[in-house]
Amino acid sequence: MDAATREAFRQRLLEQQRALVRRIYDLEAELAAASEREIEYGDRAQAEDTELDLELLDEQSRREWEEIQAALARLEAGTYGRCEACGKEIPRARLEVLPTARRCVRCQETQEVSAEA
Ligand SMILES: [Zn+2]
Repeated sequence: MDAATREAFRQRLLEQQRALVRRIYDLEAELAAASEREIEYGDRAQAEDTELDLELLDEQSRREWEEIQAALARLEAGTYGRCEACGKEIPRARLEVLPTARRCVRCQETQEVSAEA
């Protein structure tokens, strides 16, 4: 995978991450309105990176968040796009659909079958 491709996926992952952050703040706003709690939104926006309240996310969003973090870490480490199970390159088409994919389709299916057993 060349540098330009890695950067393209990095941008996609960051955009996905930003979308999740927006979802967290929407949830916080709803909760605050519901409980009439006062929140300093200006301060919180500045602390966006450090003060994410992941507890507010549902299970699926939390997992998505962790997958994005893991994918970004793999990009940093230079292992992005490589199957964690068999070590082969994950086809570009699969990464286009699922940028956070850790495994190739074949290994993913094997893993899901064994997880069910
Ligand atoms: Zn594999």
